[in-house]
Amino acid sequence: MQSLLEQVAAEQLWRFPGGVHPPTRKAELSKKPIASLPLPDKLYIPLRQHIGVAGHCLVQKGDHVMKGQPLTMADNSMSVPVHAPTSGLILAVTEHTSPHPSALPEPCIVLEPDGLDEWRERAPLHYSQCSTEQLLERIQQSGIAGMGGAGFPTHLKSAVQQQVELLIINGVECEPYISADDALMQEQADTIVQGIEILCHILEPKAVLIAIEDDKPAAISAMQSACHGRQPWFIRSVPTKYPSGGEKQLIQLLTGQEVPAGRRPIDIGMMMFNVGTSFAVAQAVLHDIPLVSRIVTVAGDTLQHPQNVLAPIGTPVSDLLHFCGFQPERPQRVIMGGPMMGFTLPDLSVPVIKTTNCILAPTQQELPAAGEEMDCIRCTACAEACPASLLPQQLLWFSKAKDTEKLDEYNLFDCIECGACAYVCPSEIPLVQYYRVAKAEIREQQREALKAEQAKARFEARQARLEAEKLERQRRNEQLAVERAAKQSANAPDAVAAALARVKSQQQQTPADLEAIKAERERKKQLARERQAEKTEAPANAASATDPRQAAIAAALARAKAKKQAAASDSEQVHPQQNQPEQTATKPAETAAASEASDPRQAAIAAALARAKAKKQAAASASDTGQTEQEQAKPAETEAEQATQTAAEPADTVKAEPAPDPRKAAIAAAIARAKAKKQAEATPASEKTGPEEAKPEQADAASASAAQTEATEQPSDPRKAAIAAAIARAKAKKLKETEPK
Ligand code: SF4
Ligand code: SF4
Repeated sequence: MQSLLEQVAAEQLWRFPGGVHPPTRKAELSKKPIASLPLPDKLYIPLRQHIGVAGHCLVQKGDHVMKGQPLTMADNSMSVPVHAPTSGLILAVTEHTSPHPSALPEPCIVLEPDGLDEWRERAPLHYSQCSTEQLLERIQQSGIAGMGGAGFPTHLKSAVQQQVELLIINGVECEPYISADDALMQEQADTIVQGIEILCHILEPKAVLIAIEDDKPAAISAMQSACHGRQPWFIRSVPTKYPSGGEKQLIQLLTGQEVPAGRRPIDIGMMMFNVGTSFAVAQAVLHDIPLVSRIVTVAGDTLQHPQNVLAPIGTPVSDLLHFCGFQPERPQRVIMGGPMMGFTLPDLSVPVIKTTNCILAPTQQELPAAGEEMDCIRCTACAEACPASLLPQQLLWFSKAKDTEKLDEYNLFDCIECGACAYVCPSEIPLVQYYRVAKAEIREQQREALKAEQAKARFEARQARLEAEKLERQRRNEQLAVERAAKQSANAPDAVAAALARVKSQQQQTPADLEAIKAERERKKQLARERQAEKTEAPANAASATDPRQAAIAAALARAKAKKQAAASDSEQVHPQQNQPEQTATKPAETAAASEASDPRQAAIAAALARAKAKKQAAASASDTGQTEQEQAKPAETEAEQATQTAAEPADTVKAEPAPDPRKAAIAAAIARAKAKKQAEATPASEKTGPEEAKPEQADAASASAAQTEATEQPSDPRKAAIAAAIARAKAKKLKETEPK
């Protein structure tokens, strides 16, 4: 079996699957020399022009810069700087339309050339005397990224640890119209070869293989001349077929080996650079010229002078087109890139960047715009054209469904976006656009997942740290506990000795000492009890002192007591106003009624006593005056009955109504007596029916009747009052009839 080098030396070629043969339209351009574009009025230099991250901006508005001066600083390995393409003034650092299918604005440095095109100081290197690191550093600081269109940083791609079997220089410019590399090889073959030598110095490959399409005879010839005598270097002419310039497709074409899905060429011992990249490396190392310009194919039937132009990075597309005699149609499409992989520009102010190899301004007849998209008819023409052996129609389906798992399963990221599938699709489906959108979404998801993963890692690290701190605290506490226990056990004998000494001293005490101690203990106990008693009383006193409700109740009780005493004294003051003879008989009954009104049993006893007393007095008086016992007893009986009734009323009233006020009843009786007396005095003599001796008794009867009426009115029982009044009137009448004529 032949080795790889033997196969290459045998000039054997293989085939790759798929591919298409669009019309190339390169013949005219490849014969023209490279033109140099005059300095534009303004240059728009995007901070990021490669795969990776933008460098840190070093300039600001108003700065004057020299040609080749770095405008950004590469502060990590995925970054490469951008440089001033000419000397001039920084007008702004602002957002500008990006040269990207999305056309999103990106940060740009706006430079106004001063026309002097003055270089900064340069420091060329002798690469043979430089280490790999020095050369990689120079390549990075010169801002070199893949010139074939990918834009991957060259210093990163070159920094490999694996053995490189074959270094492939890609001069296969398969896209229609584009002839920038062809022109470069024709005019700068020696510099390209110098660049290849520098790369060989870095990578130390076993062989160099330069591949050029067979439709570029001038370029092949130039490169053969430049490479003459170098071993083992090979130049291969490959058949024109699109996309034979693709990295994996060209390796398969040259070596018959296939780069596995998701792997890189270095994984099978191969490394590939574009001829433009080799040229840029030579410029950077040998002349200290950073990547500040590039060759751009400006083509299309709307141009009077289509040609390859050496344009400063940042040149607006409009300047390039007008330099080539642009005569636009209405509407006019301008495409950045070739007709297969390019994209239509949103406006002509978009700048040329490091990966721009073609500006195409075709007529409608020359390159008709894509028609209206139709449904897939499952014709499988796309699958047959795919150089990556994919299933474009399935990828389309899953892209529309945003099924990322299926897209991954069907190797979406092996798609090189060559556009061969869309080129052959009869339904005019823009398949590549769908794939680009799907890739962007998946990359975004991967970025989010990465961020989440990093956050999770940080969280877990924090948890581990907290757990470690907790364990350390536990360990420390346990250690301290052990130390404390050890200390206590060391002090234990002293405590025992002290206790023994106390017991011994107690045993040595005399009875007198013990009595004194006992007395002292009793005194302390008594003191403690007193203190406890004080504490117990204090809250109660404090509560009564501070409880307003209890204080109010106590005040109300005091007022009621005082009122009762006042009522008792009032009743004593009312009686002296009555006649003295009557006072003797009525006072006990009234007093009993007033003081015992609330106790019916006592009131009855008092009434009985009053009746007995009155009877006794009547008997004594009868013996003196000759009146009968019955006659003498009547006034007293009237009084007694009144007292009895007055005393009994509360008991009746209690049943139906609140108890009457005896004090008020006594007052009412006194007022009634006074009224009766007054009426008796006011009665004319003609109306008087009895002798003068009878007047007191009559007055007493009227008084009793009135008092009875008043008293009965007071308790609010009209029936009883009426009965009492009737009884009083009957007695008075009887008394009148029994008077001596
Ligand atoms: S664009 Fe992708 S899917 Fe379509 S042919 Fe090219 S590699 Fe295949
Ligand atoms: S070429 Fe177009 S229509 Fe045919 S299968 Fe592919 S996507 Fe569908």
